[in-house]
Amino acid sequence: MLDQYAHTVTDRFLRYVQIDTQSDPDNEAFPSSEKQKDLSRLLVKELLEMGIQDAAMDDNGYVYGTIESNTDKNVPVICFCAHVDTAPDCSGTDVRPILHKNYDGRDIHLPDDKDQVIRLSDYPYLQTQIGKSIITASGKTLLGGDDKSGVAIIMDLANYLQCHPEVKHGAIKILFTPDEETGRGTEKVDLDRVGADFGYTLDGGELGSFEDETFSADSAKITVHGVIAHPGYAKGKLINALKIVGEILAGLPKNEFSPETTSGREGFVHPVKVEGIAEQASIDFIVRDFITDNLAKHEARLKIIAESVVNRYSGVKLEFTVKEQYRNMKEVLQRYPEVAENAIKAYKNAGLTVTNEPIRGGTDGSRLSFMGLPCPNIFTGMQAIHSRHEWIGVSDMEKSVEVLVQLAKVWEENA
Ligand SMILES: [Zn+2]
Repeated sequence: MLDQYAHTVTDRFLRYVQIDTQSDPDNEAFPSSEKQKDLSRLLVKELLEMGIQDAAMDDNGYVYGTIESNTDKNVPVICFCAHVDTAPDCSGTDVRPILHKNYDGRDIHLPDDKDQVIRLSDYPYLQTQIGKSIITASGKTLLGGDDKSGVAIIMDLANYLQCHPEVKHGAIKILFTPDEETGRGTEKVDLDRVGADFGYTLDGGELGSFEDETFSADSAKITVHGVIAHPGYAKGKLINALKIVGEILAGLPKNEFSPETTSGREGFVHPVKVEGIAEQASIDFIVRDFITDNLAKHEARLKIIAESVVNRYSGVKLEFTVKEQYRNMKEVLQRYPEVAENAIKAYKNAGLTVTNEPIRGGTDGSRLSFMGLPCPNIFTGMQAIHSRHEWIGVSDMEKSVEVLVQLAKVWEENA
């Protein structure tokens, strides 16, 4: 009976990406754009139609729901999580998804902008899609695979489990969040309401990738207070804060210590914003490393570089402040090895080879892990995200659904 709602993951994806859910980093309201709720409302409606009776959206735009347990065993409660918003970097208005069946490896010219061409030579991972179906946008917008692929995969899992009671599983919680792209996705999440022991975000890329390690992250701010005087009578007095800030930037190492010169497990310090007037100027930095203790070392080194400039000028003052942003989720996840082990077993049961590389960034899972919901990241297939070249392979999404079904089973079998 429930099969009348058995849309495929692709149908769902094509439907969801057409709803504009771009978040807005300049708006302090929550969610940062009301339109994110348009998708959240639709998801609640579809979940209710599937028989997920407690599906609901709260005032902040979070969607909560429960796929009820159908086993007598006492299985840990797991949660699948994805974000509804799309990146502010690229338009998400009037997304026109295009399904390219039987992709043959040739250049894909996007119809709404002749300059937008997706080439195999630029995206080698396209090689894995030859003979299969892929989805792109039309040239003027991003596609929104980040993270509507994750949303569609979780929705399809829910539908699958509702339609297949013979697949035994514990209680599975569903969580859709707003504002991941503005870094605020976990700000107002109610983890008591989620009520899960462990979680998995569906927000990763290539087929088979599994991510349980992220950067640890701080922000740092250097503020320089110069010495001000009327420029007409400033000789020998004025010390311009803007120029000192420029010297500090010029004093940063050229061949290391930066995102453009590091990879793999190396950390970095990265200036992201300069602001100021002659009297006072500041530089915002982000500081990243996989080893949390290294952050303090990077910050100390940055401070020494700034001080060595400022100390050459008498009367100039330096302020240096650091704020914690997020921490490497591995610090939490290593205390619960079954979370990764069960995922890896599920990948294998779905016939996949697991690739596990540390993420040179953060996910909502990094924050959730430290908030009490240990939460690694599973692939959806999304590629070239945050851009007009964004694309995704249909079979990768389908495989991700299969992994989630296997994962639900593995947790039940191991209980
Ligand atoms: Zn994402």
